[in-house]
Amino acid sequence: MTGTLADPGWSQAEDALHVLFKFDAFQPGQEDVLRAVFAGEDVLAVMPTGSGKSLCYQLPAMIRPGLTLVVSPLIALMRDQVLQLARRGIEAEALHSLNSAQENAWIMSRVRTGKVKLLYVAPERIALPQVQDTLRAAGTRFVAVDEAHCISSWGHDFRPDYLDLNSAMRALGSPQVLALTASADGPTRADIVRQLFERRPQVIVRSFDRPNLRLNFALKRRALQQVTRFVGKHRGETGLVYAATRRRTEMIASLLRARGHHALAYHAGLDEAARSAAQDAFLNRDGSVIVGTIAFGLGIDRPDVRFVCHADMPGSVEAYYQEIGRAGRDGKPADTLTLHGPEDALLRLSQIARHDRDPDHQSVETARFNTFQALCTSDACRNVAMLAALGEAAEPCGQCDNCRMGWPRRALGALARALPVSLTRFWTGGGYGLPDPEPTEAPWLLPQAAIPVPAPVKLSVAQLERLNGLRTARRARAQTLRVAPSALWPEDVLLQLAQAAQLDTPTVSALTACLPRAESEALAAALASLRHKDHG
Ligand code: ADP
Ligand code: ZN
Repeated sequence: MTGTLADPGWSQAEDALHVLFKFDAFQPGQEDVLRAVFAGEDVLAVMPTGSGKSLCYQLPAMIRPGLTLVVSPLIALMRDQVLQLARRGIEAEALHSLNSAQENAWIMSRVRTGKVKLLYVAPERIALPQVQDTLRAAGTRFVAVDEAHCISSWGHDFRPDYLDLNSAMRALGSPQVLALTASADGPTRADIVRQLFERRPQVIVRSFDRPNLRLNFALKRRALQQVTRFVGKHRGETGLVYAATRRRTEMIASLLRARGHHALAYHAGLDEAARSAAQDAFLNRDGSVIVGTIAFGLGIDRPDVRFVCHADMPGSVEAYYQEIGRAGRDGKPADTLTLHGPEDALLRLSQIARHDRDPDHQSVETARFNTFQALCTSDACRNVAMLAALGEAAEPCGQCDNCRMGWPRRALGALARALPVSLTRFWTGGGYGLPDPEPTEAPWLLPQAAIPVPAPVKLSVAQLERLNGLRTARRARAQTLRVAPSALWPEDVLLQLAQAAQLDTPTVSALTACLPRAESEALAAALASLRHKDHG
């Protein structure tokens, strides 16, 4: 039926859904996008992963005349879709750098003679003059730009090649454009509209709300215990645990195995056999728990995942959303727990400072992390706060940890924020609202819910000297690492070290156990040099 309809409209779209795709109905969002596309409009569609974005360009491509171009940065995805379309008898091809020159030339000749309905192209190919000539000659009328957030340098997946798309569109005679993305906050969205489109597009945003997910956050105290308790509540159910490092995934997996769970680690450092064993178990064995780095989960789809746990903090609301989003795809209730705390914040911020040389990018990444941290420490409904961060308004969910805790905790939190900083100075507990006696330039330190007021701290002169020595060492190190002093070595840790009667190795390592290893070592070294001074 391809190419035979002069001007197919909306009425044919529904038939095509049944006949070509064998689906009963459109998913939420698909219908809005398709109506706009069939009305000839340019569209920016912001829809969550799994909401069926590809159908929004495949269906029009199949029933409208002419060639449809799909720009995608993911070669694996292109190949996958070409195969799927071939199974439905649709002529689709993909132009990318993993094809041989002959293969690409052969594809181009088929495009030129009108044999191809859907052509997937890697972004860098579309800038080539000979490719543009062929596409123009073939009558390209519709271009879908997948992963459209790649055009924005604010986005986490910025691809410079995407910046050439706008001029490529003009070279092709300004065809209709449908841009698609699953992750576009306000600034990214504005960037896409500005950089990609010549006409003002219709922006269609499908809700990111996942009402069957129960969002819970907890301050990280004893992470391993907290994780095993949470997983224990879901014994026999299939779930995911995310951890920051390879070592931690293995540690948590073996701990869970020791408690009788069928748990397997997954990370990029494992050999092929171990990784596919984990994937197999996850897909086929009920009640398996995969403990993975964020490498796990991409492209792996199991509808009845009942829980997701973050043993360590994700780096942004988008990442958090993606990861918890792997639970409850069947629409039934699913539980989540995300641990957060100052050590994670420190780690993340020093990673950004170390690995990201571009200062603009650094500040964007820091801002992203701050937004996520604000979600962790918020006392509002988690769902409302999360959706607000994703640019959407919502009503309180009634089931997240904050909604269930209700007003007493919220009132305490408000009280804590209303009190002067000096009063809350020693309200300790390792929260990252910990006010610092030193001036701090760190905007990421956010207020935390109230903790009962402890008795005032009295220090001897020697203890005070030790405390000040540690603070000086902390300030120097914080400057080198470009993080806030209080995020580096929490004030209460310094206080406990200052008050400790004995400073033997076991005591010091117990008192600094909450810190990342590099920090506990640096702190121990600072302490040793202070004592050296004392005695010398
Ligand atoms: P996205 O690109 O938004 O992540 P996909 O296009 O990969 O999503 O689609 C996700 C899944 O939903 C696919 O398995 C697809 O076949 C299925 N799907 C798409 N549209 C429909 C529909 N109208 N009814 C049922 N399933 C659909
Ligand atoms: Zn809520």
